[in-house]
Amino acid sequence: MMDSCEVAIVGSGFAGSLLARVLAVLGYDVVLLDRGTHPRFAIGESSTPLGNLSLERLGIRYGLEDCYRMATHGRWLAHVPELRRGLKRGFTFYRHHPDEPFQNRGFESERLLVAASPDDALADTHWVRADVDHHFVREAVAAGVDYRDGVELTAVDVFGDSLRLAGRRDGDALELRAGFLVDASGPNGFLARHLSIPSGLERTQTRSAIVFGHFDGVRLMQDVVPGMPRGPYPDDWAAVHHLIDEGWMYSLRFDHGVTSAGFLLTPRGISSLTGNTPGDAASLWHTVLQRYPTLTNAFADATPVMPIAYRPMVQHRLTRATGDRWALLPHTYAFVDPLFSTGIAWSLRAVERLALAFESAASSRRAPALHVLARYDAALDAEADQIDRLVAGSYEAMTHFDLFAAHAMLYFAIVSFAEVSQRMAPEESAAWNGFLGVDDDVVHPLLGEGLQRLSAITKRSGSVGTADERRAFADWVARAIAPRNIAGLAEPGRRNLYPLDLDALVEKHALLGMSRAQLIDALPALRGMAPEPSFATASPPEHTPTRS
Ligand SMILES: Cc1cc2nc3c(=O)[nH]c(=O)nc-3n(C[C@H](O)[C@H](O)[C@H](O)COP(=O)(O)OP(=O)(O)OC[C@H]3O[C@@H](n4cnc5c(N)ncnc54)[C@H](O)[C@@H]3O)c2cc1C
Repeated sequence: MMDSCEVAIVGSGFAGSLLARVLAVLGYDVVLLDRGTHPRFAIGESSTPLGNLSLERLGIRYGLEDCYRMATHGRWLAHVPELRRGLKRGFTFYRHHPDEPFQNRGFESERLLVAASPDDALADTHWVRADVDHHFVREAVAAGVDYRDGVELTAVDVFGDSLRLAGRRDGDALELRAGFLVDASGPNGFLARHLSIPSGLERTQTRSAIVFGHFDGVRLMQDVVPGMPRGPYPDDWAAVHHLIDEGWMYSLRFDHGVTSAGFLLTPRGISSLTGNTPGDAASLWHTVLQRYPTLTNAFADATPVMPIAYRPMVQHRLTRATGDRWALLPHTYAFVDPLFSTGIAWSLRAVERLALAFESAASSRRAPALHVLARYDAALDAEADQIDRLVAGSYEAMTHFDLFAAHAMLYFAIVSFAEVSQRMAPEESAAWNGFLGVDDDVVHPLLGEGLQRLSAITKRSGSVGTADERRAFADWVARAIAPRNIAGLAEPGRRNLYPLDLDALVEKHALLGMSRAQLIDALPALRGMAPEPSFATASPPEHTPTRS
C-alpha cells in the first residue's frame, strides 16, 4: 500500500529537519527521509549573526525553545551543553607566505580581526554537526514528523497536484505520495538528478578543491605567534582564515578541543603543489601544510580524529529552485565556497521563507502558492549570484593582504547593516530580506563593482598591483560602504582590529533612519539583548496530524 503525506522532505541535515519540524508544528503531515543515519559527520560548521538571527526568529515564532537557546554561545552552554559547539567571536584572517614563518610586525602584521559579538555570552558558535543535526532530527520526530532513515530513493513522478516517490528501505519497497516535496539533500541532490534540472555551474566563477578533517591538539595561533597586539577578542576563538598562495585554510575550534580545518585550493594552487596529481588526501594535506612554517607549527602535535578527506570541487549550481509542487533548499540549489560562512545563514533564511509560505498556503492547496514559489526561486537565484561575486572578489583580492582586508569590508558592511536592520524589522519582511544585500540598491552593485576593480588590478593573473592602486581600491571601498557603514569599518586608524563598536553605531544613527535617542533606546534589541521570550506560556499552532 502506498503511504501518503502532505509534505515530504528529502534530507535530514539541520535545514531539512528544522523545516520538517516547523511544518509539523503548523499542523502539516510531514515525512522526512534520509539515505543515512544519525549521528553522522557533516561539513559546514561555522554560524554567523545572520544565521543566529534566523534561528532566534524561528524559535520565537514557532515556539522552538532550543532554537532560541542555540542562537548565542552563552544560552547554548546554559541550556543544551550536551550538544558540542565552539565559541566564535568573529572572523580572523592571516596572510602566510611560502617557506616563511608568519611575521609578527605588530600593528603592521598581515592580520585582520572583525568582531561579530561584544562578549562570549552573546557570541556565535561553530556547530559540531554530528550533534546538532542529530538533535534537530530528534526534535522533528518529537514534533510529530514521520522520520525514516536508511532510505534509498530511486524515482520521483510529478503530477498536477502531488508527487510520487519510490525507493527501498531495509530491502522493502517504499512508495510515498506527497502533496509537496522539499529537497534538502544537498549537492548533487536527489530531485535535481531525477528531474534532470540543468546545471547552472557556468554562472559560478570560482573553482576550488578541499582537503579537510577534524584534528585534536591544534595549537593556538596566539601561542605559535606570541606577542601580537591585543585584538577585540582572542584570535583563535573565531572562524580563522589562513590565506596562502594556493587558496586559503579555515580553522574552527570547538570547545572540547577538536578543531575542524580544511584547505580550499584553487586549480592553479593544486597544480603548483602536485602537478595535477593530488595523490591521496593525507599526502596533499601534508604537502600544503609543510609549505607554511607557522601552520606546520600549529599542527605539529595535531592528530586527525577522522580520516583526512579530499573533494576535487566544492562548487555546484542549478538553474531552478522551485516547481509547482517542489522546492530546493539553498545547499541543494547552489554552493560556492565556505569563505565568510554564508551557508548556514542562507539555509536558515530559506527555512523561514518556506515556513511562512506554508503558513499562508490556501487551505485547498496546502502548499506554497505559485507566486510565493516564484519569489523564492528568484531570491535564491539572485543570492547565489551575489555569494558568487563575494567569493570571486575575495579570491582575486588574496593576491595582496591590503586588497583582501579592504575587500572584506564590503562583506562586513553589508551583513552588519542587515543584522541591525533585521532586528528592527517585522519578522516576515526580515525573512524575505535579500541575503547579502541583493534587495538593497546601495550595496547590491558593490560586490560586482569590487570584483571588476580588483580584476583590473590583478589582471586576473595574480598581479598584486602598485601601492597606489591598492590604496585607491581601499579608498573606493570606504566611500562605497559609507551609506551602510554603521560599524566603524574601513578606518585605517583601527589597524585591522575591529571591535563591535556600539559608540560607532550610535554615531551612525541617521544611516538607520533613527534619531540618536531612538537608537540608544533600541540598543538592547539591536545587540541581541532583548528581554527573553517566555516559552512556557507560548502556544504555537497546534499539530493536527491528517495522515491516514
Ligand atoms: C567545504 C564546505 C565548508 C562549509 N563551511 C561552512 C561554514 O563554515 N559555515 C556555513 O555557514 N556553511 C558552510 N558550508 C555550507 C553548509 O555545509 C551547508 O549550508 C549546510 O550543510 C546545509 O545543510 P542542509 O541541512 O541543507 O544539507 P546537508 O548538510 O547537505 O544535508 C543533506 C542531507 O541529505 C541526505 N541525503 C543526501 N542525498 C540523499 C538522497 N538521495 N536521499 C536521501 N537523503 C539524502 C544526507 O545524508 C544529509 O543528511 C560549507 C560547505 C562546504 C561544502
